[in-house]
Amino acid sequence: MRSDILRPSLKPCPFCGSEAFFNADHRSVKVQCSHEDCEAETGSWYPLTQKGYDIAASNWNKREVPQYLNKVKVIHLGSALQGIADQFPDVISVRQQKALYVAAKLLWDREGIDDADILS
Ligand SMILES: [Zn+2]
Repeated sequence: MRSDILRPSLKPCPFCGSEAFFNADHRSVKVQCSHEDCEAETGSWYPLTQKGYDIAASNWNKREVPQYLNKVKVIHLGSALQGIADQFPDVISVRQQKALYVAAKLLWDREGIDDADILS
C-alpha cells in the first residue's frame, strides 16, 4: 500500500451490513465486504492511485441500503414475503417459498428485529 494515499471512508456492506475494506494488490484496488460468506465487492479493480481509491469508494458507497427502508418498513416487507410464501404455495415452487422465508429472516436479522417486534 502506498503511504501517500488517503483512504476514503467506506459505508457498510449493503447486503449484510458488515465492514468493507480496500483490497489492494501491487497495482490495483477494489472494495469488498469483510464477511467471509458475503461476496459483495466493487465489480472492477481500480488503479492504485488516489483517484482510483476515490472512485472505488464512491462506487461502493453508492450501493448503500437506502435510508427509506427503515425498521417498520423492513418488518412489513418481511411480513409481505412470508405472506406470499404462505398464501400462494400453488403458484410458487417449494424452492421459491423457502427463498421468501429466508429473505424475510435475513431482512429481520439485519435490522435486529425479533419476534416481539413482528407481533406488535
Ligand atoms: Zn456483505
